[in-house]
Amino acid sequence: MSTATAAPAKIEVRDLKKSFGHNEVLKGISASVAEGEVVCVIGPSGSGKSTFLRCLNKLEDITAGHVTVDGFDVTDPKVNINEVRRHIGMVFQHFNLFPHMSVIENIMLAPVESKKASQTEARATAYRLLERVGLAEKADARPASLSGGQKQRVAIARALAMSPDIMLFDEATSALDPEMVGEVLQVIKDLAAEGMTMVLVTHEMGFAREVADRVLFMADGVICEEGKPEDLFGNPQQQRTQEFLSKVL
Ligand code: ADP
Ligand code: MG
Repeated sequence: MSTATAAPAKIEVRDLKKSFGHNEVLKGISASVAEGEVVCVIGPSGSGKSTFLRCLNKLEDITAGHVTVDGFDVTDPKVNINEVRRHIGMVFQHFNLFPHMSVIENIMLAPVESKKASQTEARATAYRLLERVGLAEKADARPASLSGGQKQRVAIARALAMSPDIMLFDEATSALDPEMVGEVLQVIKDLAAEGMTMVLVTHEMGFAREVADRVLFMADGVICEEGKPEDLFGNPQQQRTQEFLSKVL
């Protein structure tokens, strides 16, 4: 058969709504992310970016609409959400490393606890991931002895230890001192170059412009505008987007 079929969406979001009590935070979001695509989500504080990201792996209960990951509808009670989550790595603003464990133990924990790998395999994988983020020499250090940028690189390695095929980042560099932002962004860029499917909420407009295949601008719980970075940043169509960009660029 020579019929070309479009690659199925890795993540498909249909009319997603999320309320906290009477506060409707997401007011009907539809978006899709293709395999290997890097999508950056930008927008003012409080616009619902984190809530949107957290709905993708159902860290938040979804009020209405559908989120499908690799063809599995996470809103379907018959779908095993833990199985879906194993394919999705998530990195937060605050690194949430376990302070009483060494760096390498932090990275080994999930693969060992989920019985995905033996201790020996998990250690070898963790070490390889530490090399990849440039921190092999910190394997036996405690998180407290690391800089913020190093902690975040460990958090990324930890997320990668489960071999996810989707990575979600929620303002992964916002808590870092400026001189440490670059080293973390570089790790994310490397992942993008390797073809990882990623959704990144970010305040780093220069980074979004450079690394994103597509940018979503969120405001007041809706996607107000979306497009290729050169279009969205270079020639925004909506007044709301123009106002936001004029404040942050
Ligand atoms: P952003 O990440 O764009 O800054 P958020 O998704 O964090 O926005 O928040 C959007 C809105 O949802 C805010 O008004 C916030 O107060 C509200 N919100 C977020 N999480 C909760 C929660 N767990 N309970 C109640 N309200 C929440
Ligand atoms: Mg947020």
